[in-house]
Amino acid sequence: MKIHFYGTGASEGVPATFCNCKNCVKIRTAHRDGSSKNFRSRTSTKIDSNLLIDFSPDVFDHMRYGGLDLNDIDYLVVTHAHMDHFYPEELMHIAPPYSMSPIPGEMTVFGNETVCERLRQVGAEKISDYLHVRRVSNFEEFTAGDYTIKALPANHDRTQECHLYIIRRNGRNLLYAHDTGYFPDRTWQALEGERFDGVVLDCTCCNGPTYFDNHMGFEDNLRVKERMLSRHMADENTVFIATHFVHTYGPFQEELEKAFHVHGFLAAYDGMEADI
Ligand SMILES: [Zn+2]
Ligand SMILES: [Zn+2]
Ligand SMILES: [Zn+2]
Repeated sequence: MKIHFYGTGASEGVPATFCNCKNCVKIRTAHRDGSSKNFRSRTSTKIDSNLLIDFSPDVFDHMRYGGLDLNDIDYLVVTHAHMDHFYPEELMHIAPPYSMSPIPGEMTVFGNETVCERLRQVGAEKISDYLHVRRVSNFEEFTAGDYTIKALPANHDRTQECHLYIIRRNGRNLLYAHDTGYFPDRTWQALEGERFDGVVLDCTCCNGPTYFDNHMGFEDNLRVKERMLSRHMADENTVFIATHFVHTYGPFQEELEKAFHVHGFLAAYDGMEADI
């Protein structure tokens, strides 16, 4: 299974849109053209060739600079309806007159009730020949082509049902876990008996102290890894990847790699591809 990270920044991106903190100024002034791994757009991640997790407000840039071809995407799996993960207005461009290829593509969107409601608000029902919407709930297992996917509770926004996802294909298993704080007990219980080839974790607070309940930092990522190893949900071959970094702690790629690699973690950057 291939994982392609198009965006690895938190909600405001890195450098943050309005921010003049020393980290953001340093990144902006060092690379005015954006050509640095320290620039981090908002989240979208492709699995193999035709499944996208989250639909970022930066999806146009992912197409322009990252090589993302949305015509390839058959399935969109949405973790939650926060702005940095879900930009439904852009999805309306899948249908004519915005898309005029000989046969405009179709896509099925899987997401929580808030995702479905946001799609209703932007008029998705009018383009239901192109955009199919499927509500999913926590603990539900569903299929998307030859993927088998299971939604599990995240520790994130209590006003909507935020999902982590187990994604299975061709005997490979991925746990995609952001946005979330340290997992809730009922999620740990549901993970018993699973074994993962890859684990992608929320590392919003980078290697600094965690100051959110609903996001993690690297210390929490290590706790997750330890627990997964001790419960045989992971082993020495499991690829652990940290992502979704916030500007506040200065997510400089070189420094993150130094800090994380010794603990067997990859630090994701925009454009990174991993094989699990
Ligand atoms: Zn986020
Ligand atoms: Zn900043
Ligand atoms: Zn969020």
